[in-house]
Amino acid sequence: MRLVVTGAAGFLGSHLTDRLLAEGHAVLGVDNLITGRRENLSHLEDEPRFELLERDVSQQLEIEGDVDGIFHFASPASPVDYLRLPIETLKAGALGTHHALGLARARGARLLLASTSEVYGDPLVHPQPESYWGNVNPVGPRAVYDEAKRFAEALTMAYHRSHGVDSRIVRIFNTYGPRMRPDDGRVVSNFIVQALRGEPLTLYGDGSQSRSFCYVSDLVEGIWRLFNADIHDPVNLGNPGEYTIRELSDLVLATAGSASALEVRPLPADDPKVRCPDISLALSVLGWAPRIPLKVGLARTVAYFRELHALGRLEATPG
Ligand code: NAD
Ligand code: UDP
Repeated sequence: MRLVVTGAAGFLGSHLTDRLLAEGHAVLGVDNLITGRRENLSHLEDEPRFELLERDVSQQLEIEGDVDGIFHFASPASPVDYLRLPIETLKAGALGTHHALGLARARGARLLLASTSEVYGDPLVHPQPESYWGNVNPVGPRAVYDEAKRFAEALTMAYHRSHGVDSRIVRIFNTYGPRMRPDDGRVVSNFIVQALRGEPLTLYGDGSQSRSFCYVSDLVEGIWRLFNADIHDPVNLGNPGEYTIRELSDLVLATAGSASALEVRPLPADDPKVRCPDISLALSVLGWAPRIPLKVGLARTVAYFRELHALGRLEATPG
């Protein structure tokens, strides 16, 4: 198959691209590099089955040649990124998704939308099953991301119901691993970079808020299974192991062998107090469950950032 991956130069898009190539397919990446990096794909320079088009999917998505499948991953994803790029984020979720669905419809291609656990907002049901409709502040700062993804889901279902587009929707919960940008502001990359540099770990609020962290290879496995399954309703993918952010800081310090202190900072507006996926649907329809425990995934991620540090490439101060 010839598969399009929007957001291919990003953290998840680049790992997904590797998996699709390993499955024997050709991949056309589309990315405007607004939060991604070419270096995430530098190992594919001599790969004849891979090509990268530098385009903004909010402007257009015109692709020559065959398109059998589309993975729509283009969007800023870290809170720090989407709060600094609010309009771009709304456009990527709304206009970008419209263009991706238009391409899928025109070519009869299957489309998988990367949605998010943020559609559940600051959840009042815990853990979150797909049947929960969420608790999102539509005018809060995070709405630029949450509502864009909620619109993207609604548009995808409408294209499926009205135009018969063969769609899939994955609701991704916090995922981490190598190739996260050192300065993207997400908690795992921030804590590891701070620990390796011997700087204080920036703990927002009292650290009692929880998240559930999925290692990237587990997520990519689930995405590939979902793409190949016949299910159009949203499916949660994430690791149900739930940790407070304070527990995460302890684990990162232990894994990195760092003696960094904690520096308490204010909790950002509308920061969800809890988050944990109910993955019973993924287990029953995809036979999928994550395999990599947080300790193991963190050790691999620390090794990646340690290598960057040794090369003098952890220069930007995160936090
Ligand atoms: P990322 O920022 O590393 O990657 C996003 C990529 O999309 C970047 O390469 C960026 O340059 C590109 N992009 C953004 N806007 C674009 C546009 N208008 N046109 C073309 N390219 C554009 O983030 P990520 O963590 O890899 O997230 C990828 C996708 O997965 C996003 O849609 C995100 O919402 C979703 N997601 C990720 C997580 C996670 O934990 N990583 C959780 C939930 C959902
Ligand atoms: N967080 C933190 N310190 C940081 C970055 C994030 O304490 O340096 C907290 C943040 O307030 C949130 C959690 O860690 O409660 C996860 O944040 P992240 O930005 O990774 O993703 P989110 O799940 O909020 O989208």
